[in-house]
Parts: sequence; C-alpha cells; structure tokens
Amino acid sequence: MALIVQKYGGTSMGNTTRIKNVAQRVKRWHDHGHQVVVVVSAMSGETNRLIGLAREISNDPDPREYDQMVATGEQVSIALLAMALKDLGVDAKSMTGRQVTIKTDTTHTKARIEAIDADNLKKELDAGRVLVIAGFQGVNEFNDLTTLGRGGSDTTGVAIAAALKADECQIYTDVDGVYTTDPRVTSKAKKLDKITFEEMLEMASLGSKVLQIRSVEFAGKYKVPLRVLSSFDEGNDGAFDDEFKQTVGTLITADEGDDMERAVISGIAFNRDEAKIVVLGVPDRPGIASAILSPIGKANIEVDMIIQNMSENGVTDFSFTVPRGDFDKAMKILNEQVKDDIGATAVIGASDVVKVSIVGVGMRSHAGVASKMFETLASENINLQMISTSEIKVSVLIKEEHLEKAVKSLHTAFGLDREDGESKVAGL
Ligand code: ASP
Ligand code: MG
Repeated sequence: MALIVQKYGGTSMGNTTRIKNVAQRVKRWHDHGHQVVVVVSAMSGETNRLIGLAREISNDPDPREYDQMVATGEQVSIALLAMALKDLGVDAKSMTGRQVTIKTDTTHTKARIEAIDADNLKKELDAGRVLVIAGFQGVNEFNDLTTLGRGGSDTTGVAIAAALKADECQIYTDVDGVYTTDPRVTSKAKKLDKITFEEMLEMASLGSKVLQIRSVEFAGKYKVPLRVLSSFDEGNDGAFDDEFKQTVGTLITADEGDDMERAVISGIAFNRDEAKIVVLGVPDRPGIASAILSPIGKANIEVDMIIQNMSENGVTDFSFTVPRGDFDKAMKILNEQVKDDIGATAVIGASDVVKVSIVGVGMRSHAGVASKMFETLASENINLQMISTSEIKVSVLIKEEHLEKAVKSLHTAFGLDREDGESKVAGL
C-alpha cells in the first residue's frame, strides 16, 4: 500500500464527463489498496472567467476580495469530484484550504504555504476515506482566504505530498510527460522517462509550461518524487506497480542516474518573452551598471541576460534583456531618466528575439558542451546576440525567425531525436 497524492488540472476537470473519468481513475487506485489524496484545479477557463469579472468591476481589484472570489473555482470542482466518487461507492470527502488547514502567509494573490495540518488528513485517510482538496488556496493568520498565484494547484499538490510524506505526487495533465523540447516545434521531441529537479526547474523557468515553477522548487526542497502524466491515457493505471515505474509519464527526482547512460543534455527550452536593449557608448567606470539597471528594477521590470564588455578607449556598450511586455516602458525610462545622466550616446533595442537554452546536469562532467552548441548554430548561420551560462545550462539570444531551426538542429546535435518517427502528444 502506498500513499499517493494525485493532482488534476483544469483540462482534466474540464467538464462533468471528464470529472467522472477522474473519479473512475481515483477509484481504481483506491481499490488497489492505496491511500489517495486528490488535489484539483478549477474547471478549465473558470479562473480566467472569474478574473474577467473582477476586471469588469475594477481596474485594480482589492487583493483580499480578489482571492475570496478567484478561489471559488476550486470549491466547485472538489465538490463535483467528491459527488462523483460517492456515486461510485467511494467514501470521499471534499475539503477547502481552510478545512485542511493550509496555512499561508498574508501576501494575497501570491501567498506562500507555511504549514499544513497533516494529522488532520492522516486521520481521515486511516479511516479509509479519499480526500479531495482544493488546490490554489489557503488561509492566513487573519482567517482570510488566500491564493497561491496562477497555476498554484501544482504547489498545493506537492506541499500536501511533502506534509504527508507521500510515496509519490502525480500531476495529471493534458500531456503525457515532460518532453525534450516543445513537440510543436519539432516532431522529433521525445518524452523523458526521468529528469532531475534541477533540470526541471531550469526547463520551467526557461519557458516549459508543464509545471508551476514554485511547485518544482518545493518538490526539490522536500524531495517529493513527482510524476507528470496524462489524465487521458488509460494505460497509466497501475503506474505505481514497480514494473511500470520507469516508463509511465515522466518522473522528476533528485536521482541523477548513471552518468554512463544519461544524455549530456536533457532538454532544449526556449522563451519568446524576451526583448533586448543596448545602451551604446557608456563610459566604462564604476556605477554604470547600477545607474542603468536600478531605475529598471524600481519600475519592477525583471532583467534577465546582461552583457557588458571591457573597453579599450574608456567607452563601452551595455546590453540586457527584459520581458517583451516591459520593453516600451524600459526604453522610455532609459531615454528619459538615464541616457543623458550617464553620457550614453544612444539606446537601441529589439523585441524580435528569443532565448534558446540547452539544459542538462551532464554538463557538469562533460567539457565542450557550449562549444558544440555554438558550432551547431554557426553551421545553421544563426547569429548569437547574447550568451549566458550556469552550471547546468547554456542560453543564447537569437532572432525569433531562427527559433525553429535552432531548436531542431540542437535537438539533433545533442542526440535527443526520437528514433521511431513522429511524436504523438495527447492534446496537441
Ligand atoms: N485555477 C488556478 C489557475 O487557473 C490554479 C491552477 O489551476 O493551478 O491558475
Ligand atoms: Mg496548471
């Protein structure tokens, strides 16, 4: 017998037929003798609909009231799923964040979980009950409802699994796992059987949307084995039996596996949400980076890649990237508040750029990974505008029109192409 936390996203809970299917699956696991806790999202589209209502009322909705409203989507789906389970003869009980208790800090709209009453849940599980818990919500010290940020049900699932020391946290979604890259860009993308927390974190923060970033951080910190799998694939049942363990969905673990058989690169991520800004002809003296980036930071604009070269004649160029949506704002700030003050000659920029990254823990033990990436892109005649690296990734900024070519050629060069033809991803 194992203790499993299963999280079902909005698509899996998309209509009443799908909710009944989820109930069937939960029942099968329960019938196998496992203890099951289910965490669910709102039905697909519901959270957006609610946010739309708030915006119709106010440009800047009060955060407490926003949370009070937006958390209702999950309250509907837990009750519907619990009803469906009861109709199948399963002793199920729905619980809101407050009923669990999922205690959070007081930051409305992006609260952090501080504590979960695991004893309360264990008593229910030991009585043979299946618990259906609302994702995305908690309660703060003032007894007010809070929410965890968009996609936050993933984090609820992982946090509950950590609190209960569950054997596995299964994230059921509309794709059957984590892929080497976005299968919409190359049909040769293949599903990974395993990936490390670190790699998944990089993939998620670089634009792979399978899991909320915070849930991956959480799972890594508390070493919760996390499995991403499809809620539409019947073959997933029995995934906890040992023989299936390696092959169903994608397992995200701390285990880096055997160096000999692991690929050096696990995946290729890309992010279109990039714009580049170059401040030309800035004096090469202390304080310049701060003079340029402080006003950007104060305007709450996140800076990603940064490049500043050495100078021979005391003058240099300073380049960095920002999210596309903040590009105009950043250009305005630099032109109006910074350029003349620091004596720069001009500020130029472009938003037709993307960041492409290769990710893999294998990089730590293999030399020449970055140069292989650069050679591959050079042979495709792709110009690299910026480069940044960390211990397990190399990122380059290139023109958006080269994105597909870059991803495909890197995918092939690093041996990630699937051998057996085209990938078939559920939901795409
Ligand atoms: N319903 C929330 C959202 O759409 C939380 C979630 O689905 O994870 O962001
Ligand atoms: Mg989600």
